[in-house]
Amino acid sequence: MVSEGKFGKFGGMFAPEILVPSLKELDRAFKQFCADEDAKKELEYYLSEFAGRETPLYLCSNLSKEYGCRIYLKREDLVHGGAHKLNNTLGQALLARYMGKTRLIAETGAGQHGIATAMAGATLGMKVDIYMGSVDMARQKLNVFRMKLMGANVIPVDTGSKTLKDAINEAMRDWIANVEDTYYLVGSVVGPHPYPTIVREFQRVIGRETRRQILEKEGKLPDVILACVGGGSNAMGIFYEFLEDDVRLIGVEAAGKGLDTEMHSASCCLGTEGVLHGAYTKILQDEDGQIKPSHSVAAGLDYPAVGPEHVYLQEIGRVEYVAVDDEETLDAFEVLCRKEGILPALESAHALAYALKVAEELEGGVIIVNLSGRGDKDVETVAEMRGYLFER
Ligand SMILES: *Cc1c(COP(=O)(O)O)cnc(C)c1O
Repeated sequence: MVSEGKFGKFGGMFAPEILVPSLKELDRAFKQFCADEDAKKELEYYLSEFAGRETPLYLCSNLSKEYGCRIYLKREDLVHGGAHKLNNTLGQALLARYMGKTRLIAETGAGQHGIATAMAGATLGMKVDIYMGSVDMARQKLNVFRMKLMGANVIPVDTGSKTLKDAINEAMRDWIANVEDTYYLVGSVVGPHPYPTIVREFQRVIGRETRRQILEKEGKLPDVILACVGGGSNAMGIFYEFLEDDVRLIGVEAAGKGLDTEMHSASCCLGTEGVLHGAYTKILQDEDGQIKPSHSVAAGLDYPAVGPEHVYLQEIGRVEYVAVDDEETLDAFEVLCRKEGILPALESAHALAYALKVAEELEGGVIIVNLSGRGDKDVETVAEMRGYLFER
């Protein structure tokens, strides 16, 4: 399916000339790493002992009864740090060490990827520098503090809009200048080849476990699997294992304040083709190719593009992409809290919201939702938007 980092016509290596040798070196090293039994064992060790894998595939008995389906959650919210992100940062940090690099750099928007990188760097004893827009730093003070506690250096970016896209530019500049000892740790299935493949491979552990677990529990594959899509890493991680099967796969994007407004992050649903951050993919852009601002109540979905492999899977009709808005997401968040005693991340609540719509039409079916993260980080947002949670 994949040739030279392309997924159909999507993906590729649209990087500054000076970085191409480093990307090719990374591609070679990753293939070696994957074929190395000792390296694989070490990754398995950290995933189980440090990250807490494997995660449960949990049957929501109350929701299942109510909807007349069997609704399972893949509990990535129980991974150390509270989300699937550590699967990837541990994998890439070990790859970096395997390549002889001593320093990790990353960029972060809301801070979640920065925290997961800091965790991996601390446990492996590597130097970590995180680029973060100064506007984002002011908005996410606690996350900045968390990164610092784990020994990461957080570098404020004061150029442009002082947010994620400026942080990405600075991280790229750093990598070009320090490529000898530095590894650029990308946070989702985005960027130039080989990053979309590397991140997918490190997140595939989600799908491998899910497949074994559902066969154990149900004796058959599920009817539907849903996952939220920001850059698309948790979705690729769970979907990939089921691409060849008769299983309906649904990626859920953020419709924000509505697909008919400018305030959404639905790149697969409404984006147009173009190059962003090193890959040919779908982007939220205007007629002049200017990136449009994106919005979601879930910070992790607030990104104006999507991983190229998703666009390919959409084009060939293998995966459906839909969008759920902020209000529907908050409804689903509350449902899971009250009915099942689980606080989902607002990102994951997008997938759950659409899963409940599917459940209404799918009598007696088996549905799996990838619960990509826990919602403790989101309670203030929910309280603010719904008002009542702290009053009762
Ligand atoms: C970062 C994040 C996402 C979005 O990233 P993907 O690469 O699309 O998976 C989704 N859920 C949670 C909990 C996150 O922290």
